[in-house]
Amino acid sequence: MDFVSTRGTKDYKIEEVLTKGIADDGGLFIPTELPSFTYNDLNDTQSLQDMALRFLQPFFKSSSLEESLSEIVNEAFSFAIPTETISPGYSIMELFHGPTAAFKDVGARFLASCMSRLNAKQLRPLVVLVATSGDTGGAVAAAFNDLPNAKVVVLFPEGKVSKRQEKQLTCWGNNILSLSVKGTFDDCQKIVKKAFLDDELSTNYRFSSANSINLGRLLPQSVYYAYSSMSHYRSSGIKPSYIIPTGNLGNGLACVMARDMGLPIGNIILAVNENKLIVDYLNGAEWEPRRSIETLANAMDVGSPSNMERLSSFYGDINSLNDCISAITISDNMIEREIKRSYSEDHIILCPHTATASHTYHELGSDLKKDNEWIVVATAHPAKFETIVEPLIGQDIPIPPELASILDKPSSMHSINACMDEFKDILNKNMH
Ligand SMILES: *Cc1c(COP(=O)(O)O)cnc(C)c1O
Repeated sequence: MDFVSTRGTKDYKIEEVLTKGIADDGGLFIPTELPSFTYNDLNDTQSLQDMALRFLQPFFKSSSLEESLSEIVNEAFSFAIPTETISPGYSIMELFHGPTAAFKDVGARFLASCMSRLNAKQLRPLVVLVATSGDTGGAVAAAFNDLPNAKVVVLFPEGKVSKRQEKQLTCWGNNILSLSVKGTFDDCQKIVKKAFLDDELSTNYRFSSANSINLGRLLPQSVYYAYSSMSHYRSSGIKPSYIIPTGNLGNGLACVMARDMGLPIGNIILAVNENKLIVDYLNGAEWEPRRSIETLANAMDVGSPSNMERLSSFYGDINSLNDCISAITISDNMIEREIKRSYSEDHIILCPHTATASHTYHELGSDLKKDNEWIVVATAHPAKFETIVEPLIGQDIPIPPELASILDKPSSMHSINACMDEFKDILNKNMH
């Protein structure tokens, strides 16, 4: 299969797409066409790994990774992704059973497994740059930790991630460099974008990105929508609709792509926090990049979601976009109320991100509720955000074992200003 940039027509192969992360013209990689499946094609895929292999094969056809794909999916999809029914027509898909207790483990592990194979024959080590608003960096660092021939530089906004998130960003081995940046997530992302375009840096380093702009993270994320929608459809004959906590729009786009490929998926609603550019845009506002606002759902504090460029390249004008998705903004106040409500009424402890989607479900009009079956996507384990959630529910949250083992490790990080020169300096001192 061939890939192109959202801004150009040059063809790329999957190997380049994964290692470059971003196209030479600054655009995002997309497949020239999406494969399409019938329900029959996928009917015999019982396990998540079976589905992953079947679903991803077309993207890797005739590539150097084709033969290892089955190993890669087994490495990446190494933890369960259960969907629990809460009440008739309402389920929660739990994406947080991986090593860093957030859905980003799926994409990060898949990408790391691909990259470690692609890099086996290269001399210069690969430097993976990750700007993170909280969860991405930890998932990527965990996935690449101690992999040969690859280094990771994690940039996160100083003081804007939770203590436990910070631990997940800073507790790794020698091949992970953690930078605490005095600025916002957008400042971190700007540094990464500039680094890619910097001539001096790109002669010295072979950069790649593991942000959700990397298609190697997006593709495996479509797999859990394929798996859960097929399971739901097989057992009920109904196409489930999804409500997805959304920041940079990677997870939401993955669901849209799965539906476009023929999977039985009904409506898709994006729940965003007070960073609501997507909502305003769907209501007719211009797409003008905004500064991010800090909210309780910090992994969704994204002023200008990068993946809109991909979504728009699939759907073009605003009317077709409005036919394909809808979006709702949820305030911090609503997040707090929903965490309390869900604990007392449904006996479920939600993380602040998942609370945006859960709140959205509970506020749906009765027609939408009656005519559809809904799956709320749980993107992180609440124990990652204990300082927010515990006071609201008046209870300690049990820590899952993977998270507990990380919290015992020592941290190491460098603090820098949001400035390119300081970034270069610290990189040159630490990457040799
Ligand atoms: C990253 C993240 C999100 C947002 O996902 P996008 O793919 O960036 O839209 C939501 N919830 C959690 C817990 C996250 O870590």
